[in-house]
Amino acid sequence: MTGDGGATRAAEPPPRHSWPPAGTVHDRRFDVLFEPVRLGPVQTKNRFVQVPHCNGMGYRDPTAQAQMRRIKAEGGWSVICTEQVEIHPTSDITPFIELRLWDDGDIPALARIAEAIHDGGALAAIELAHNGMNAPNLTSREAPLGPHHLPVTTWANDPVQARMMSKSDIAELRGWHRAAVRRAIRAGYDVVYVYAGHTLSVLHHFLSPRFNHRSDEYGGSSENRSRLLAEILADTREECEGRAAVVCRLTVADDREGGIGRGDTEDAVARLDHLTDAWDFVLGTWESDSTTSRFSAENEREPLIAGLKALSAKPVIGVGRFTSPDTMVAQVRSGVLDLIGAARPSIADPFLPWKIEHGLVDDIRECIGCNICVSGDMTMSPIRCTQNPSMGEEWRRGWHPERIRPKTSDASVLVVGAGPAGLEAASSLGRRGYRVVLAEAGRTLGGRVAREAMLPSLATWRRVVDHRLFRISGYPHVEVYRESEIEPDDVLGADVTDVVVATGATWRADGVGRWHAAPVPIDPGAVVLTPDDLFGPAVDHLGRERRIVVFDDDHYYLGGVVAELLAGRGHRVRLVTPAPLASAWTAHTLEIDAIQRRLLLAGVDVAPSRAVVAVGAGAVRTCCVFTGREQTEEADAVVLVTARLPVDGLVAGLEARRSEWSGHGIRSVRCIGDAWAPGTIAAAVWAGRRYAEEFDEQPSDAEPFRREYTALAPYSRVP
Ligand code: ADP
Ligand code: SF4
Repeated sequence: MTGDGGATRAAEPPPRHSWPPAGTVHDRRFDVLFEPVRLGPVQTKNRFVQVPHCNGMGYRDPTAQAQMRRIKAEGGWSVICTEQVEIHPTSDITPFIELRLWDDGDIPALARIAEAIHDGGALAAIELAHNGMNAPNLTSREAPLGPHHLPVTTWANDPVQARMMSKSDIAELRGWHRAAVRRAIRAGYDVVYVYAGHTLSVLHHFLSPRFNHRSDEYGGSSENRSRLLAEILADTREECEGRAAVVCRLTVADDREGGIGRGDTEDAVARLDHLTDAWDFVLGTWESDSTTSRFSAENEREPLIAGLKALSAKPVIGVGRFTSPDTMVAQVRSGVLDLIGAARPSIADPFLPWKIEHGLVDDIRECIGCNICVSGDMTMSPIRCTQNPSMGEEWRRGWHPERIRPKTSDASVLVVGAGPAGLEAASSLGRRGYRVVLAEAGRTLGGRVAREAMLPSLATWRRVVDHRLFRISGYPHVEVYRESEIEPDDVLGADVTDVVVATGATWRADGVGRWHAAPVPIDPGAVVLTPDDLFGPAVDHLGRERRIVVFDDDHYYLGGVVAELLAGRGHRVRLVTPAPLASAWTAHTLEIDAIQRRLLLAGVDVAPSRAVVAVGAGAVRTCCVFTGREQTEEADAVVLVTARLPVDGLVAGLEARRSEWSGHGIRSVRCIGDAWAPGTIAAAVWAGRRYAEEFDEQPSDAEPFRREYTALAPYSRVP
């Protein structure tokens, strides 16, 4: 038995196969989205712009990034932008890994990305950034720079303050920005973004009364606070000299105390319009801009952008997690936006524009708004996506979001379990042309995703299932059987050559997790539930207005969602977690603050830094994770969200009968997804894709993916 590992190969891009599908046609309904738009000296081929997005690859993995961007260009976006690019060592946001343009030595990596974007048929854009008081400068060890003496604004609250920039600092900054523009042009970029958004840029810091406490000509009035932005825009235009367009990325709403107000934005747009070729409007923080579907719907921010276009003679770009072409058309027709910006929808489906143009709207792999992509950047690891398992793997493993090698044999596969891992395996094997039998024990297809999508605010996640079922429905050689619980005898009797087991995992009911290595004492009279019970009758039998303790030792979304669900049903909920905040890992998906707010407003009593140590009938004992001091708390029921166990009975049963496999024509049995090791939905989808990609390949000892090596500088023993 082999698991998620198995066959490996040095990655080469697959041959172009079965994409685009034959017979696709231009769809006239959305023609307005395919009109060109002039951006100063350049012209877009349509209205789709992949706006800057981080990807956790940056300066460490530039070739992987180049391939990722090229494939998006191939998918029809007219402009493809880099993430923010640090322009100078005083803008060093270590530990995060973005691109750098500190000196000429960085040009080749940036040029490779531009070249790849051009190769894909798009204009190459670069977002130049000086991060000001958001740069802790942990590598360069320079003092952070800002409009005033204030603590840095980094996520880690690094123990360092930004220094108030003097006039000569400002002059130097302008020089660094000019140099970066020159390097960007040398690297081949057609569009230069000037970044003044998200509280991540010194230009935002100067614009904002929250940070700008100056009394000179760079502080005070709105005009003074936007002076530095005006100077940098003018410098950028001059350096671009008509060879590249200038786009200003500007904050439109920051509702924090002293944040940039609507008046500031309107004033800046009206006054600086002549200095830019287009505007890209963003919100005050990345967290407020990239909200998850749990907290906002598609295009929910439109009221914040509406009306700004009327102040400008230049095209306006904006995002809204757009996946519906009708919504996009409405944005253009109603005069809110000229260009449809997308980061996450372009990650989930790099071919979104192409599919709209060619009448394949139903095939769009719609972003579910989960921010797993963001977690790549936040954990300094290459980007991954729940919906698009090829994201970040384009160069590393040679995966493509739409193309996959045709089958190389007449093998046929039994896929057991129709959760995200099984559905992706069946769908991708089907795309390769293999005969597939997909067997699911339950009536419903979709596994944990179908269940979790029923929880509060998670309905959008259902798209993971819907996309794969849509694909599978188009493959006559993929048969789907519901209510078919597979046992070892069924496998051995099946007319297939290979078996992949994707039977998922179940939540533990004994309290074992991160905090407890051994089961906690549980009174037989206690009411103990797990998240799995929330989809069945047990949760309805709880009665009304009960006191429920949710013990969250998982730390991702589910503990918080469970608390929200139960509070919404009128129970008195106390969320006990050993972490300092509820759903602590969601700091990486930018949701952590919104989750605390929602739980508190829902009346959930969050008890951080505590663990449930025993469960009695009508009460639990909890302890402080620091002092160990215990207390008894009343509880009519406890929900344990601690850890999961793989559903591996089928795997174990087949392993025990390994000697019978060949006699029944079975070549291989593999286990993937949560049944192999419980993890995220993204990991399960990825495991399904990996199985399909590597199917029918000879195992190899080669490293399973390509990586870029650091170029060694000459070594010297001095000092
Ligand atoms: P993953 O995240 O790895 O895809 P899920 O738990 O979401 O895992 O899905 C596993 C699916 O497998 C569930 O829908 C479950 O009903 C199904 N399943 C579990 N055991 C069997 C079995 N023996 N035969 C068929 N289906 C099974
Ligand atoms: Fe959308 Fe989630 Fe993919 Fe990010 S990871 S692009 S939010 S589906």
